[in-house]
Amino acid sequence: MENWRKNVNNDINFIPTMGNLHNGHIKLISTAKNDNQNINLVSIFVNPLQFNNRLDLKNYPKTINNDIKISFANGADAIFIPSTEDIYPPNNKNIEFLKAPKELSSTLCGLDRIGHFDGVCTVVYRLLNIIKPKNLYLGEKDWQQLLILKNLVLTKKLNVAIKSIPTQRDFDGIPLSSRNIHLSKNDRKLIKFFSNELFEAKNNFKQGKNINLKEIIKKLSSEKISIEYLEHLHPYTLKKARTEDNISLLAGAIRCGKTRLIDHVFLMKRRPIIAIDGPAGSGKSTVTKLIAEKLKLLYLDTGAMYRALSWLLIKENIDYKKEKKLQNILQNISIAFKSNKNANQDVFINNYCVTEEIRSQEISSIVSKISSIKEVRNFLVEEQRKIGESGGLVAEGRDIGTTVFPDAEIKIFLTASIDERAKRRKSDKNSKDSQEIDLHALKRLIEKRDFEDSNREISPLIKANDAIEIITDGYSINEVVDKIIDLYNDKIPKETQFK
Ligand code: C5P
Repeated sequence: MENWRKNVNNDINFIPTMGNLHNGHIKLISTAKNDNQNINLVSIFVNPLQFNNRLDLKNYPKTINNDIKISFANGADAIFIPSTEDIYPPNNKNIEFLKAPKELSSTLCGLDRIGHFDGVCTVVYRLLNIIKPKNLYLGEKDWQQLLILKNLVLTKKLNVAIKSIPTQRDFDGIPLSSRNIHLSKNDRKLIKFFSNELFEAKNNFKQGKNINLKEIIKKLSSEKISIEYLEHLHPYTLKKARTEDNISLLAGAIRCGKTRLIDHVFLMKRRPIIAIDGPAGSGKSTVTKLIAEKLKLLYLDTGAMYRALSWLLIKENIDYKKEKKLQNILQNISIAFKSNKNANQDVFINNYCVTEEIRSQEISSIVSKISSIKEVRNFLVEEQRKIGESGGLVAEGRDIGTTVFPDAEIKIFLTASIDERAKRRKSDKNSKDSQEIDLHALKRLIEKRDFEDSNREISPLIKANDAIEIITDGYSINEVVDKIIDLYNDKIPKETQFK
């Protein structure tokens, strides 16, 4: 393998398996194939270190010839089938036997399978060091393993991206697993009952009901299902779930005869939210629109709402300094977005389309002042929260991650040098204001707006504590978009992205 690797110049997608390949593995291999032009390398190795039960290791299904056929038929370019001595040469003192972090490995499957995750970390670390892949493909079915391996990549500073796929299920809804071939008809019925219970809990949770573990356990026990564990946890720390968590994990393990099976669902109050904040001209709009398109999320341009409101106040000559009067007017204002023919959004205020007019220099120079008014902010923040109530959106603005959606799953603070931002605005045909003045004046206008936005009393433009700052000087739009999509895919379980 080391020799082969030296002669391969392409990047590698690595799909580690323990053999007995099923549709779940096939999905991993074909996803990797469809993702890019890299070489797809599948490994088949039953790692003795992750079995704490010899009989389990002995009985682990081995179907090597069929696995080779399946791999090549579904997009593998090469297969690595090492022996135990290849991976753990006796007398080789250089092999690092790793320990999985306690916080992640002492719960769920780690409770009963002592040393299992240490073995997983050791073998994956060893394989990654030999193969040096660009991408590592793993299934979300083993969510705890996925978290532990992401942690391994971080702590060992490995130069590999982990890509995951959602749990693949059989025709009857039970998760695919190499161990399923050991199941009797009755075992299958039991695991189906177990998976159905998890999905029912998920639906109940969606409708606002709390998770009652005892009740679920009682139901499973009444079917004579032997439960190893059933936990409701935070999806990333694996600590007990808190009521305020938007996404949480309901995970369980049961025993059917001699076979141990795991399954889980993610519980969600709303779909995920991406918050993108940053100063004028940082590329927010372009980037946000593309992300919305690629991830099939709703796109919310909150700046357009401040602009539309400013437009109306000016147009109607309303004295916005008079609080009472402003309050009354706000009560009768409606702002709406509608997709237009050019696959863009039109902005309407009180049913009047203002898409173009709100981009004028007149509006650009007054909008910061108007958006610093308390009544204006309260009104628009509430409107924005209504739009994002059920999630599934990417919103851009100045205070999204700090005020509008402080519990957004992904927070980005997008910025660039003032010269870069002015240059971008100048070449943006859609921003009317930049066409009306020269580059120098445009720079001053942006600086003034930055100052006003960053120094106002209510919800000033600042980076949220948990936001990731991306300085976009020197990066292409696509590079920034891909970076944010990678962050999203890395954090949000695929299962929650589509439903
Ligand atoms: O993003 P855009 O340049 O269209 O925003 C116009 C103005 O609206 C900003 O300069 C800022 O004053 C205001 N704004 C805000 N809070 C947001 C979005 C925009 O105060 N969330």
